Amino acid sequence: MSTADHPFPTVDESLEVLGDPAVLLIDGALEPATGGATFETIDPATERPLGVAADGTAADMDAAIAAARRAFDTDVEHWTTDPVFRAHCLRQLRDALQSHAAELRELTIAEVGAPRFFTTGAQLDAPVADLGFFADLAEQFDAWQTDLGTAAPMGVKSHRWVVREPAGVVGAITPWNFPHQINLAKIGPALAAGCTVVVKAAPDTPWAASLLGRIAATETDLPAGVLNTITSTDHALGAQLGADPRVDVVSFTGSTETGRKVMAGAAQNLTKVFLELGGKSAFVVLDDADPSTAASLAAFNVCAHAGQGCAITTRLVVPRARHDEIAEAAAATMAALGANDPHDPGTFCGPVISARQRDRIEGYLDLASAEGATFLTGGGRPADRDRGYWIEPTLVVGLANSSRVVREEIFGPVLCVVPHDGDDDAVAIANDSPYGLSGAVQSADPERAWAVARRIRTGTLSINGGVWYSGDVPFGGYKQSGIGREMGEAGFLEYLETKSIAEGV
Ligand code: NAD
Repeated sequence: MSTADHPFPTVDESLEVLGDPAVLLIDGALEPATGGATFETIDPATERPLGVAADGTAADMDAAIAAARRAFDTDVEHWTTDPVFRAHCLRQLRDALQSHAAELRELTIAEVGAPRFFTTGAQLDAPVADLGFFADLAEQFDAWQTDLGTAAPMGVKSHRWVVREPAGVVGAITPWNFPHQINLAKIGPALAAGCTVVVKAAPDTPWAASLLGRIAATETDLPAGVLNTITSTDHALGAQLGADPRVDVVSFTGSTETGRKVMAGAAQNLTKVFLELGGKSAFVVLDDADPSTAASLAAFNVCAHAGQGCAITTRLVVPRARHDEIAEAAAATMAALGANDPHDPGTFCGPVISARQRDRIEGYLDLASAEGATFLTGGGRPADRDRGYWIEPTLVVGLANSSRVVREEIFGPVLCVVPHDGDDDAVAIANDSPYGLSGAVQSADPERAWAVARRIRTGTLSINGGVWYSGDVPFGGYKQSGIGREMGEAGFLEYLETKSIAEGV
């Protein structure tokens, strides 16, 4: 089918415009992996191989780190010292990505299984636009140099300054669920700060990173070595990047389990780590909330991108007296949403990324059955799909907050309903989790909702449907959901060092 009889470019047409995605970006050059190995990237909705990516090696990773180190240490084209130039390059990158939005959108739907609807937000358009926020921040940041004035500590008259400097080489290790968002939410602030970057992309979504590298190399003035992108099937390249002494900041997004390993690797060199990890967030419904609005919001939230979002609310904590009413309403909405073709503009819940993830989710559904749960809707694969990786939106009742299914991150469209006995109990249940990434509170009384929100130990919170996701809003976790904040000015500060200078006067 061609664009003449179809409103959207096909995968092949998109690649024709964008160029070969089977490349690594190392020191300004687009090149195949050492030895020329490649691997397939798969459409999760159909299991169809879309094409290949470069299967980078340890030698490639080593070269990428060396390039980033050299670019930083030689202050290539004044990269580390010229925020105006950096802002220019970031805006060029944003504009280039936006000029290819049509092609990137189709490739994102195909490779990530992301519903088209979400590519107009967090899956593509929003993080691309946010590069402009970080460009503005680089130019307007007023704390690059702060004058603390003169004092005489220990009797020595001194003029004191605090200067902020780029932290150095950033190793960015990213997952597959929102690849553009997570790649760009690291690259944007790190480049704005004057760092140089090596991105290690997840093997499930290599093109999101390799095409970003290609566009950066061919359509922007980014100096060689400032941005390097590595794709590979080998997870060990992430470990290599995180443990390399030439790296100054390891910025990782992924599972809590892998985060622990990354932190242990970085500890060898006492490298600064920034971790965005898993979640099992609570959607708390207070007893004065409208039950049908709460049920509907919770149902939509857990179905978004088949539940493959770390900040999705996957525990629905409801007043005991309204448990059945809210659970049934949420189940009805989830059943109506279903799991559908991500190309369809009306789809909210598409496929899950891989057979491995589908099997993992099914393992949790088996465990739920074994633990005595009831599924009010869903419970497995949709009967009508024999290709692709699919899980029906599933609502689980009858399990305690202490059960594994309710405590552990499933990363699929699975919502567990837990009853509470008042605001204090709801807060206790929400906080009874190793995680603390996100959450929601629903109440007719905003003051009461705020009081509950302030007691939940979590990095982001939505009250009555509010949306916190935005380039200028910091995002990150309490407890085992992470260390540090991504996006917003806080996300930019993660990539800066502070130097205090005192001049004798
Ligand atoms: P993952 O932890 O398996 O992999 C993430 C990245 O780490 C990949 O690039 C992978 O190749 C690499 N990696 C694997 N082993 C490594 C090691 N030992 N050392 C260094 N790097 C290694 O996660 P995933 O399955 O790709 O993504 C899903 C997980 O990510 C979920 O747990 C989800 O909650 C989490 N996540 C968190 C956020 C957040 O911001 N908090 C956002 C998205 C996803």
